[in-house]
Amino acid sequence: MDKIFVTRSSMPELEEYVEEIRDLWETHWLTNMGVKHEQFTEALEDFLDVPNISLFCNGHMGLEMTIQAMNFPKGSEIITTPFTFASTTHAIVRNDLKPVFCDIREDNYTIDAERIEALITDKTVAILPVHVYGNICDVDQIQKIADTYQLKVIYDAAHAFGEKYQGRGVGNYGDASLFSFHATKVFHSIEGGGVVYREEEMGERLYQLRNFGITDAENVDAVGANGKMNEFAAAMGICNLRHIDTEIARRKRVYERYIERLRDVKGVRLSAPDEKVLPNYAYFPVLIEDAYGIKRDGVHYMLEKNNIFARKYFYPCVNEFGCYKSWFDTSETPIAREISYRVLTLPIYADLALEDVDRICDILEHGACRAQ
Ligand SMILES: *Cc1c(COP(=O)(O)O)cnc(C)c1O
Repeated sequence: MDKIFVTRSSMPELEEYVEEIRDLWETHWLTNMGVKHEQFTEALEDFLDVPNISLFCNGHMGLEMTIQAMNFPKGSEIITTPFTFASTTHAIVRNDLKPVFCDIREDNYTIDAERIEALITDKTVAILPVHVYGNICDVDQIQKIADTYQLKVIYDAAHAFGEKYQGRGVGNYGDASLFSFHATKVFHSIEGGGVVYREEEMGERLYQLRNFGITDAENVDAVGANGKMNEFAAAMGICNLRHIDTEIARRKRVYERYIERLRDVKGVRLSAPDEKVLPNYAYFPVLIEDAYGIKRDGVHYMLEKNNIFARKYFYPCVNEFGCYKSWFDTSETPIAREISYRVLTLPIYADLALEDVDRICDILEHGACRAQ
């Protein structure tokens, strides 16, 4: 049996990509905001239904520089979630700011807006929630809190590409949102990222920061870095964006098969869809409850024995990472910890055959029977 991984990058036809990069052999303009970069920027603004987007070499640099662009005083606090990928927290810490972890909601694993206010101090400057698995945060409640306390809101929307919430592109919520175009995501430019922002001024600062802080030929006015997206990445993005609707539709087919097959398996809890969200089917997380009889790690192992590589995604929580261990008390976010012990994300990607989904579901079904 072939190995099935949790994800597999979609690619355009080779000829389509070759056609897209052909001009580069004429112009020899390979990076630094070239033609492809500009074309990709416009196409994304259009597709995401947002006024502004700045492109980056990857999502992480986009997030890190968005925080830097906001010029918070050193040591300021940002309220965020521990149930995320390393990038979210690292982006805060690498800016000399302090992450303050808020627990998550049990139903969709996003930050629990009800718990944010209690964590606000006179050092709090921003909230950095994550639309984890493409589940959209309680954006209205979060904005209300931000308005009351005059905080910035930056969304890590790495998982939410192409989604709409209440009919609006998700990038329109908060002061800024980060999308990742990494090869493992729903939509990719090999590596890449895009920051959507509300204020025009932010675009200028991001432009400067991702280009070493250079203002013009003789003036360098910020301690920036290199965050630019190159032309080959932009060309891949342009090609993939042509097929995004098919990509999402093919993921939907996998998603629906999982739901149909796993709905009634005892002890396997599925996420309930949110009717306010137009989804992208980025991930398929399941929660292994006590009723299943085998623990999450056992299920993970059982699948692995059958050449299926599901992921314990996200485990451990960020506040349990070696690099942060002594900084935080993980008992302060018990729901995140509990979910991280029970969650398993199953393979989902456009090319995944329904027979393979069935094979995965058969194993989960048998596991449930065996455990009874
Ligand atoms: C992928 C990801 C990122 C970082 O994106 P890269 O493009 O890989 O740098 C940030 N946050 C979350 C939640 C992610 O999953």
